[in-house]
Amino acid sequence: MTGGLDARLASIEDVAERQLCAGCGACAVAQPGTIRMVDDLTTGRRPLVAAGASTQQALEACPGVRLEHDRAAWDEGWDADLADEWGPVLAVWEGYATDPEIRFRGSSGGAATALALWSLERSSAGSVVHSGARPGAPEFNDAVQSRDRDQLLAHTGSRYAPASPCEGLATASGPLAFVGKPCDVAGARMLDERGLLPEGAEVDLTVAIFCAGAPSTAATLGYLADTWGQEPGALDELRFRGHGWPGSFVARAQDGSTHEASYAASWGVIQAGRPWRCRICPDHTGEFADVSVGDPWHTPPQPGEHGRSLVVARTARGLGAVERAIEDGYLELERVDASLLPASQAELQRTRRTVQGRLLAMRLAGLPVPRFRGMALLGTWLRTPPGNLLRSVLGTLRRLGRYGLRRRRPVVEFEPSRRAPTAGGGS
Ligand SMILES: Cc1cc2nc3c(=O)[nH]c(=O)nc-3n(C[C@H](O)[C@H](O)[C@H](O)COP(=O)(O)OP(=O)(O)OC[C@H]3O[C@@H](n4cnc5c(N)ncnc54)[C@H](O)[C@@H]3O)c2cc1C
Ligand code: SF4
Ligand code: SF4
Repeated sequence: MTGGLDARLASIEDVAERQLCAGCGACAVAQPGTIRMVDDLTTGRRPLVAAGASTQQALEACPGVRLEHDRAAWDEGWDADLADEWGPVLAVWEGYATDPEIRFRGSSGGAATALALWSLERSSAGSVVHSGARPGAPEFNDAVQSRDRDQLLAHTGSRYAPASPCEGLATASGPLAFVGKPCDVAGARMLDERGLLPEGAEVDLTVAIFCAGAPSTAATLGYLADTWGQEPGALDELRFRGHGWPGSFVARAQDGSTHEASYAASWGVIQAGRPWRCRICPDHTGEFADVSVGDPWHTPPQPGEHGRSLVVARTARGLGAVERAIEDGYLELERVDASLLPASQAELQRTRRTVQGRLLAMRLAGLPVPRFRGMALLGTWLRTPPGNLLRSVLGTLRRLGRYGLRRRRPVVEFEPSRRAPTAGGGS
């Protein structure tokens, strides 16, 4: 065992090649001279390690193989009924960004961007570290640092594609806010707690967006090829949703032609390309963030709707930030009963309940599993109907072959000169 990890998970190469990498980019911040993140079309952004280098320090900050809750350290006021399945929940609101453009362009109600803007303009953050479409190749994402409303607005909206926003922390300095998926936020927090951020960089607020999994680039390119026939590589713009709630999937080629599909239709296909680590993810709702934001699916979106967000405070710092952002006029939010969280995210709840069964199947197959502690995974798994208990194990045993988990899979760096869609991840 290495720091409580299975001995077969002794390096960042082990994490990546055994498909336990979540793609956050934290390892490349912990050891910048040794590790760089690259695009691997069939999995996501993944780390490449310099030959022969030790990656012990980076492994300490890796949320792919270690997530641990310590309830004694949670801030007061967490909801005991929700804690097992949703982590610390101090308060839940529903509403939207008061800035109509942020609300419209945002993925749900623009709450994540509004909070980021508040932290820039009214709190102490000098920059917001997050991610956005790569200029000239919008099927990929880059980590970005935004310093004003225009920059934030250019990077609103959920991108159902690999992104490693922690990479943006490598060049950060001073107080900052961080926005990312739950695994990204966990990576940022582990870097912070272990003193692995660049000198002077100080994370003042973390905002997580709920996440069912990030489909591979290959899945999206395959979807475009199948439904549009557009040559991958000729894109000028690629939006996965937003511009209304939930908005549409829109691709625009460099010749100006566009292809549009509903959010539901596109997600229904590309979700099959989610990498393995997403299938065993125990944190889809940002349990390690100060604030997390998701869709209030408890009420179906109406035609022409501009969007609403569900906002969850998870720490006292997050609670204070949301309350001040409301007071300062950045967010229009109404406090709601915390039960709206499970009512809105039944699918994420169901998925989290299967994690223990999936980990058990991996163990039965002799595979190393990540260390997830304090997340009540066994107890919540046992809450599923008996038929589903068995299915979560048997279904996983079947999938192991499809994902090729029994052998190591080296990271394959995408080279633009060899652009061609390849098969998506497993399903
Ligand atoms: C892969 C993925 C899966 C998701 N699955 C769910 C789900 O199952 N249920 C649910 O309720 N919500 C899900 N969401 C989040 C949801 O779509 C909304 O984004 C969320 O409610 C926040 O909306 P908003 O309007 O406040 O965000 P916005 O104000 O639009 O801000 C979005 C922020 O997220 C950042 N971001 C966008 N894409 C990524 C990415 N790939 N990785 C890291 N950061 C990114 C942007 O940089 C921006 O700062 C998912 C998002 C992603 C990216
Ligand atoms: S999960 Fe994050 S820290 Fe771990 S190997 Fe992947 S990119 Fe690196
Ligand atoms: S499902 Fe989990 S591991 Fe996958 S991208 Fe989302 S938060 Fe990260």
